[in-house]
Amino acid sequence: MSTVHTVLGEIDPSELGTTYVHEHLLTDPGEHLTKGSDDTVLDDLDASAAEMDLFKQAGGRAIVELSAEEYGRDAAGLATLSERTGVHVIAATGHIMEGYWRGVVDVAALSDAQLVDEMIRDLTVGFPEAPHVKAGVIKVGTSRDAVHPDEERMLRAAAIAQRETGAPISTHTTAGTIPTEQVRIFEDAGADLEKIIIGHQDRRLHWDDHLAVVKSGCFIGYDCISKEHYEPEAGRIAFTKRMIDEGFGDHVCLSGDIARRSYLTSYGGGPGFTYILWRFVPWLWQEGVSHEATDRLLIDNPARLLTWSPR
Ligand SMILES: [Zn+2]
Repeated sequence: MSTVHTVLGEIDPSELGTTYVHEHLLTDPGEHLTKGSDDTVLDDLDASAAEMDLFKQAGGRAIVELSAEEYGRDAAGLATLSERTGVHVIAATGHIMEGYWRGVVDVAALSDAQLVDEMIRDLTVGFPEAPHVKAGVIKVGTSRDAVHPDEERMLRAAAIAQRETGAPISTHTTAGTIPTEQVRIFEDAGADLEKIIIGHQDRRLHWDDHLAVVKSGCFIGYDCISKEHYEPEAGRIAFTKRMIDEGFGDHVCLSGDIARRSYLTSYGGGPGFTYILWRFVPWLWQEGVSHEATDRLLIDNPARLLTWSPR
């Protein structure tokens, strides 16, 4: 049976419901990233649970939590949060990008085989720091306008781990750049493109690149919703609607990646986890997008992406 692998075990894809495909619930990034600020540190279990309750109130049911080791992944904490709130949580193995793991995880010292083994272990046995919790997705990524050699090894390792396990892959692109280069590497490495989402594409609204991504079979992640400082929200709305109008509504997933205290209502910031469901989606409806189409973006597409291929 093909299932979605959550921090509390496997579930039927139909149980997933409304899903944000790129968020963070518990984080503790390295000091070279925080630069002395605690804004990107999410370490309050009660506050994170409260945000998940707001998400539930807005109709949300599942969250893909993409914190890797170098971003302070807390797999045991994620299982606790899921148990407390009833929100499905999918955790990630893999590593994000060189600028993130530098000084935290010595990826250069790991062989290609070790990179693959680590992913397969987290996906099938459990995280060493939380053996009762398994990963449900592989996270990898690239730098701004460039692929560091260790990032390319990571993408290729993800393709191998995916072929072995059937697990999906979710990527970080830096400022949305070089999405088609990621697709090219995955294709070259023999990955299953139908089980890959290329992330952060609404940080860089470049139609030709977006079209190339969805035509390859990959999902595209419009996962920086509400971040007006990257791209105006009206542009996100226009691109989402155009994807649907041009027949690619089955290859788009939505999320906010609002991994800061200043973005999360329960930590005293905003707009919080209700924004997409209470503001962004109604805006799409107002532009003439159907409820059926938005259900596809939030329910059907994440379920298809996150369901492991049979092995
Ligand atoms: Zn993220």
